[in-house]
Amino acid sequence: MKVVKNIAVLRHHVALWREKKASVGLTPTMGFLHEGHESLMRRAVNENDRVVVSIFVNPAQFGPSEDLDRYPRDLEHDLERCEALGVDLVFCPEVEEMYPAGFQSMVAVSALSQGLCGKSRPTHFQGVCTVVSKFFNIVSPDRAYFGEKDAQQLAIIRRMAKDLDFTVEIVGCPIVREADGLAKSSRNKYLSPEERKAAPALNKALHAAGEAALSGIRDSRSLLRIVEESLAAEPLFRIDYVEIVDPLSLQPVEKIERGALLAAAAWLGATRLIDNRLL
Ligand code: AMP
Repeated sequence: MKVVKNIAVLRHHVALWREKKASVGLTPTMGFLHEGHESLMRRAVNENDRVVVSIFVNPAQFGPSEDLDRYPRDLEHDLERCEALGVDLVFCPEVEEMYPAGFQSMVAVSALSQGLCGKSRPTHFQGVCTVVSKFFNIVSPDRAYFGEKDAQQLAIIRRMAKDLDFTVEIVGCPIVREADGLAKSSRNKYLSPEERKAAPALNKALHAAGEAALSGIRDSRSLLRIVEESLAAEPLFRIDYVEIVDPLSLQPVEKIERGALLAAAAWLGATRLIDNRLL
């Protein structure tokens, strides 16, 4: 497995693969890899001749008061996991390689970035879109793998790839959870033992609304109330948002007629958790 910090060197390796007509998959991550990331990487390895995993804590997607400086990192452990899964190349650039002096171009997907997480993280998705478009241009992958855990991000990346004529196929992968239902996340490391015990309540609340929808409740207000009441039983949680939206447009839906996305973000102390499920 190659470990590359330099864009030109990465391009050189990809060009050699392309000469041999190899297909290329890309899994972008911020590292501190867990089974959620691994499910994306495994799928990429299964579906492509060569796989690139990027590990880059992207400053452009963090707001000024967010956790950029304390975001968990463990490159050595991440490289072991990538190697074990059969990844061909890990791209782990320094910030200056991605954003050299003078950098000033950003990619923004406007309407889709405004609701849900965009309300409390107004610059987050343009940071994501900018770095992901750079990865697409640097690697030129045939397929790129993203988790459904970040459902808004996935919808935005799909829109961006379409709007900007990237030829990459965007592959969405299901949410991987802990045994107690908590969605796996690098940020779960921030949780105190008490918070960790409370954390599955978020998925439980979404699950309760999912069951209610299955039993025939179709109006969003009733379903959202179920989530809020269920989460209120866990006083450590502070809701950022709970919404039911169309999975493609991310616009709120009042009545569930076809599929809808139930998405939530909530604070446990200083840690913001997100989760979602399709209704
Ligand atoms: P991150 O390192 O948090 O930026 O995540 C990198 C990729 O892994 C994103 O596409 C995420 O949606 C995906 N991912 C993170 N956690 C999970 C999870 N629990 N299940 C599935 N995919 C995930």
